[in-house]
Amino acid sequence: MTTRIELARVDLRGRTPSAAELRTALPRGGVDVDSVLHHVRPVVEDIRDRGAEAALDYSEKFDGVRPAAVRVPRAELAKALDELDPAVRAALEVAIERTRKVHADQRRTDSVTEVVPGGTVTEKWVPVERVGLYVPGGNAVYPSSVVMNVVPAQAAGVESLVVSSPPQAQFGGLPHPTILAAAALLGVDEVWAVGGAQAVALLSYGGTDTDGAALEPVDLITGPGNIYVTAAKRLCRGLVGIDAEAGPTEIAVLADATADPVHVAADLISQAEHDVLAASVLVTDSVALADAVDAAVNAQLAVVKHHDRVGEALSGKQSGIVLVDDIAQGLRVVDAYAAEHLEIQTVDAAAVAARVRSAGAIFVGPWAPVSLGDYCAGSNHVLPTAGCARHSSGLSVQTFLRGIHIVEYTEAALKDVAGHVVALANAEDLPAHGQAVQVRFEALS
Ligand code: NAD
Repeated sequence: MTTRIELARVDLRGRTPSAAELRTALPRGGVDVDSVLHHVRPVVEDIRDRGAEAALDYSEKFDGVRPAAVRVPRAELAKALDELDPAVRAALEVAIERTRKVHADQRRTDSVTEVVPGGTVTEKWVPVERVGLYVPGGNAVYPSSVVMNVVPAQAAGVESLVVSSPPQAQFGGLPHPTILAAAALLGVDEVWAVGGAQAVALLSYGGTDTDGAALEPVDLITGPGNIYVTAAKRLCRGLVGIDAEAGPTEIAVLADATADPVHVAADLISQAEHDVLAASVLVTDSVALADAVDAAVNAQLAVVKHHDRVGEALSGKQSGIVLVDDIAQGLRVVDAYAAEHLEIQTVDAAAVAARVRSAGAIFVGPWAPVSLGDYCAGSNHVLPTAGCARHSSGLSVQTFLRGIHIVEYTEAALKDVAGHVVALANAEDLPAHGQAVQVRFEALS
């Protein structure tokens, strides 16, 4: 028996809140990562000190299973691929092909700038050497996240990749077989059976596996995860690079009276299915649409498999309906909200989408639901949450590249600018900087 849920309403009609006021007025969740740091810090420190043995202890404690080894034998990857449901394999192949197509186009080319005759700066893009790709495996398993992490890393030219995912008791301490199969399909042969904070710490510090083989540390960790994964990323940041603190998923739908309430409701529910903390927000200038979406949500909730989880997410303070005067005000609202996923379901949706400034990804019109982007659009689904789309982008080839400036000046070009270098060095009271230039042209007194 499903209880009726009511999406909370925020009425902004007739008001002109500032961007700062909007941030607090809008429905928003929030995961207090700081609150678990005291719990996660000892895990990270223990793994720094005791390596894989400690990681296996925490797997036993938090995942209820102690894998025989951290590294999954290659034969298990091949076996998982052999035994993969053909329909899932076909779907993964389509997802991989489309995601590769989009990410291949993202590869940056090096630039060479002649600043002055004889003076050039080259920007050379170099892939990170070794990366750890975290694939969640607590409440749900995400073979799609294997694709979304591995494809851009491979497109960037990363040579050494390790996928890490929690060990599952029902699979004898291996990660879920669809995760293993997806890794195999992508040509990844290094998979670790370790999840949570212990995975992030082991990827950061490395260790020695039960068979004596080295578990080499990585340079960068990407991928979504729960609050413990996020806390460990925060603690290990610096020692390794991290992509972002991707929190619970979010969808905002900017819709007018022309939107189909059944579609809007289905899309709000689809993201609420991820997590009780997931956020689903409708922004509309139509009270009739808001009422119809409320009704459609309840009708669909009755037949949704995970209705308890979805119901909790939709009734949480992070979800709701925002009523606005018109689409122009709606645009200010969605920009302030900076949703991970933003759908535009209005008249002339492409023109409205073109005016959006802040979103992780934008889904335009009735035929581009977020679920398409979760799997098979070709776009990446690892996207900034909690308003981080105001300053950050989702996972891309760029995440896995470093830009290195290569500076080449001739003697004449250096001599020409030497006076300016000396002036700035003296202004900063760093005369030795200036002398490092002067010594090349004149004897120092
Ligand atoms: P997870 O793999 O992130 O976490 C599971 C791990 O948490 C376990 O291995 C366990 O070791 C650890 N853990 C559990 N309880 C613990 C405790 N009390 N103390 C310490 N460690 C503990 O999987 P999850 O929990 O399902 O979370 C996945 C998250 O990723 C969800 O919030 C989901 O919405 C999000 N997600 C986001 C995206 C995105 O692109 N933004 C994509 C997929 C999933």
